[in-house]
Amino acid sequence: MLTGYGRILLCVDFSEESDRVAARARDIADRYGAGLRLIHVVEHLPVDTTGEFMAPQQILAHEDMLENATERLHRIAERIGVPSADCCVAAGYTKQEILAHAKDIQCDLIVVGSHGRHGLALLLGSTANALLHGAECDVLAVRV
Ligand code: AMP
Repeated sequence: MLTGYGRILLCVDFSEESDRVAARARDIADRYGAGLRLIHVVEHLPVDTTGEFMAPQQILAHEDMLENATERLHRIAERIGVPSADCCVAAGYTKQEILAHAKDIQCDLIVVGSHGRHGLALLLGSTANALLHGAECDVLAVRV
């Protein structure tokens, strides 16, 4: 039997299209009476290629990035009426972090832009494509 969505995860990359993708996720959540959570993944990690940890300044730079991302994510969340408590800023590889979080919160729909910062050249952005292949739930790629 086809049921509605109960928990939706919106992936935000802060590209120009983020608000449009967010509005679509808000609309779907409203229609289904679903909970909505936001995630942004900071891809910078304070480790070098040999796996050694970096200098304290680099760790501080990483913390600044997390803080900055958290503020930006909260602003987008506020615009679509999502409380800060339902925002997650993760650090690591985008696809892995999104899939892990989706599993953690047992979401049944992941909403992404069809492409984002990685360019208009691709028909379907790398993140959307990767999520489609890895997710256990539905994935909606909003055409941007
Ligand atoms: P892209 O793979 O850059 O074409 O991005 C496609 C979509 O994936 C974007 O519109 C976002 O919804 C999502 N996305 C890309 N990068 C991130 C990120 N670092 N954190 C969260 N979502 C992302």
